[in-house]
Amino acid sequence: MNKRRPPVDGLCDECGFNYDTGDLQGTVTTLVRQSAECSMALTKAAAGPDADVVRIRPEPEVWSAIEYACHVRDVLEVQRFRIAQCLAEDRPVYAPMDRTGRVKQAKYEDQDPMEVAAALMRFAREFGAAARVLTPPQLGKLGLYNYPVRAPRSLGWIIRHTAHEIQHHRQDIINILAELEPPIIPAPKPAQPAEAEAGTADATEALAEPAGTADDSAGLAGASGAADDDLGFVPPGRVSDDAEGLAGRSTGGSSATGI
Ligand SMILES: [Zn+2]
Repeated sequence: MNKRRPPVDGLCDECGFNYDTGDLQGTVTTLVRQSAECSMALTKAAAGPDADVVRIRPEPEVWSAIEYACHVRDVLEVQRFRIAQCLAEDRPVYAPMDRTGRVKQAKYEDQDPMEVAAALMRFAREFGAAARVLTPPQLGKLGLYNYPVRAPRSLGWIIRHTAHEIQHHRQDIINILAELEPPIIPAPKPAQPAEAEAGTADATEALAEPAGTADDSAGLAGASGAADDDLGFVPPGRVSDDAEGLAGRSTGGSSATGI
C-alpha cells in the first residue's frame, strides 16, 4: 500500500497540525473552535437549497461531510471516555473505537446533520472541559493505545492527537463542501425538482448509489489503510496517489472557508 497516513507526531503537512508546538490550553481552545467550525460548515450546507449535499461522497472511497462529522463527533466522545479511563485505572488499555465499522452500524450517512452538528459541539465542549483541568503528572500518564500501532501513549499525546483529528477532518469537511456547494447534483429525476423538501427522499436514494453502499466496507478499509485502525484518519482520496486525492482536486477548496 502506498497511501500515506497522517503522522502521529511532528508536523502534518496536510493540515498543518504540529504535535510539538502549543500548550495544553491553547490546543484545547483550538480544538473547540475547530469543532465549532465543523458544526457550522455542516449546518450551513444542510440548511442550503439541497440538504443532502452533506451526504455526497466526492469519491466512492472518500467519506461525505456527514460521515466525517459523525466520525469527529464519535472521536470526541470516545477520547473523553479515555481521559476518564486513564485517570481511573492503573494500567489503562483503550478499546478500539472501530471507526470503520461505525460508519455502517451507526448509519452515518442517514443521520440528521443538525443533530450531528449539535452533538459534535456538545462533545467538543465536554472533551475540552475534561482536558483543560489535567495536571502535568496526569498528562504524562501512559495507557496502551491502538493507533497507528499498539503502543503506550501519554494522556498529553491523546489530547494532541484528538486535536489533530479535529483539525485534519475540519479541513476534509470544508474542502468537500466547498466542492459541492452549490450542489454538483441534481441527480436525474423524472419529475421536476419541485420543492427541496419533496425531493429529499429521491435525492437520498439517488445519492446512495454513487456512494457505493455495497462497497463501503472494502472501500473505507482501503482508504483508511487498515481495518483495525483505532482512531486513525481517513485520508481523503488516498486510494492511489496524491494526484487523485481530494487535496489534489480541490486546490482552491482548502482556503474556501466560507463559513
Ligand atoms: Zn493533519
